Amino acid sequence: MPEKRTRTLALVLRTIDVFETSLIVTLFTRELGKVGALAKGARRPKSTMQGGLDLLGVSDIVLIPKASEALDLLIEAAPVERFASLRRDLAALYAGYYVAELLNELTDLHDPHPRLFDAARITLRHLGEPGLRSRRMLRFELACLRELGLMPALETCAHCGAAIDATGNSIGFGLVTGGVLCAACRTTQPHVVALSAGELRAIRALATPGNAWRELDPGSVDLARAGETVGAVISHVFGHRPRLRPLMGV
Ligand SMILES: [Zn+2]
Repeated sequence: MPEKRTRTLALVLRTIDVFETSLIVTLFTRELGKVGALAKGARRPKSTMQGGLDLLGVSDIVLIPKASEALDLLIEAAPVERFASLRRDLAALYAGYYVAELLNELTDLHDPHPRLFDAARITLRHLGEPGLRSRRMLRFELACLRELGLMPALETCAHCGAAIDATGNSIGFGLVTGGVLCAACRTTQPHVVALSAGELRAIRALATPGNAWRELDPGSVDLARAGETVGAVISHVFGHRPRLRPLMGV
């Protein structure tokens, strides 16, 4: 029986040189999710995969999935999209590395999330716009949480489902419980931080489809603190602080 081949778009998250001329690559593919694959001979000067395995590029790939723990075998990789701003703008490049860190840490092997792939591609395409960059990254962090079923509750109490009072300067938000808390639950839950009404509005706008997130004042305290809270959620989910998040000034 011929080996099953899969063609898909893939974002290159990481590459490691192995042997004389080969690479082990971590790819976030649209159809198969994250995969680890061996690209035999990919570093040979005349390899047909030249240019198809550049970090943070999108390529059209063909791979032969292997059973269980073995690496998949990458047999084709042709470049489809390169994000020019990542080459000329260091802040955009760090943000791009952080997109890769999020996808690498949060997704499991062979667990496809095509919407997250599309969101990553759109995010990378627009990282050269400095005025919107940090908001765009917060939106991508929230998109990751939503897609992976980890989205914090923002409307009703994360613990009991009761309505919350979304006014004032001290709305309870449980990092472990996963979202806003009513007055009763906030006293019983661990790791509660306080949000202001403006900060909660900013997080809601960032998490919502449409364009409300573009209207947020980039210099506002609410947006800065919303970014800290989203970062605390990501740190909680990772189990440690993300390495690259501090470099991009979110
Ligand atoms: Zn409650």
